[in-house]
Amino acid sequence: MTKPFTRGTWHGMTTYQCTLCQFDCMNEETALAHYQDHFAEPAPELNGPPVPLIIDSSGTTVSVPTVGEDTDEAFALNMRTLK
Ligand SMILES: [Zn+2]
Repeated sequence: MTKPFTRGTWHGMTTYQCTLCQFDCMNEETALAHYQDHFAEPAPELNGPPVPLIIDSSGTTVSVPTVGEDTDEAFALNMRTLK
């Protein structure tokens, strides 16, 4: 992974300048911590969001219409499933 900061010098000392904002400091750990705190993507959830499932009386998983698919067909499917 490319480091999210560039090195420079200031009065003969090494500085670490954030490539995404004006932040800079003279300590690599601080620069990395700044990046982690402000810009790093949160770790992806391993399991993702819970997906509602409906299982009919024969044990078959029935797909659940998502919001926005509120069609007559989806309604009929739900009514049949919920009986
Ligand atoms: Zn920054």
